[in-house]
Amino acid sequence: MKADKRKNKLGIIFIICGPSGSGKTTLLSSLIKAKKIAKLIIKSCSITTRPKRSGEQEGKDYFFVSEARFQHLLKAKKILEWTRYLGYYYGTPKGPLEKNFKTGVNLGLCLDLKGARMLKKLYPENVVSIFVLPPSLEVLKHRIEGRCSKANKKEVAQRISLARKELLAAVEFDYCILNKNLKFALTELKTIFLQEINA
Ligand code: ADP
Repeated sequence: MKADKRKNKLGIIFIICGPSGSGKTTLLSSLIKAKKIAKLIIKSCSITTRPKRSGEQEGKDYFFVSEARFQHLLKAKKILEWTRYLGYYYGTPKGPLEKNFKTGVNLGLCLDLKGARMLKKLYPENVVSIFVLPPSLEVLKHRIEGRCSKANKKEVAQRISLARKELLAAVEFDYCILNKNLKFALTELKTIFLQEINA
């Protein structure tokens, strides 16, 4: 457990990583809504240049900005880590993240491997990192196809090929969770979280 080593009173940055389709988003959103946990953690809101989808809320789902604004924030070093995906930028804004965890608020966020590595490097004492493993690549493929009816074969193949490489990084993480049965995986995630915050 990392909590024993943490000397400061800052919040925890709870990072969930894993291949696309492994269940990161499902697990984090279930954790944040879970009984007895909802008050102990908030989702860190990312910034994006992608247009807002119906039902999405500014400051809750994302901070929606123009590409010019994103570039400006990048240059001003106000974005901790970022990626470009399908033509749009996504990043973690520094201000809200630091304001929260420096005042003792625990934050949860789903990140890709590059982002997870960056935050681990920036906040080594405060990051607790979790890698979500799919039961198999075959199951992962079905989940990716199931999530998006329009997923084309080439894109699915690209995600699976990337997943093969990403899985090798599992050893870099504080914990690995096998997401076979969602209920069991969520129980494991809750246990880790509660242990880490010493609740
Ligand atoms: P990620 O955020 O890692 O890309 P998602 O959370 O979007 O993955 O999950 C991918 C798909 O798999 C979603 O349709 C989700 O409902 C489904 N899923 C997640 N976990 C499980 C599970 N344990 N069993 C079955 N389906 C799952």
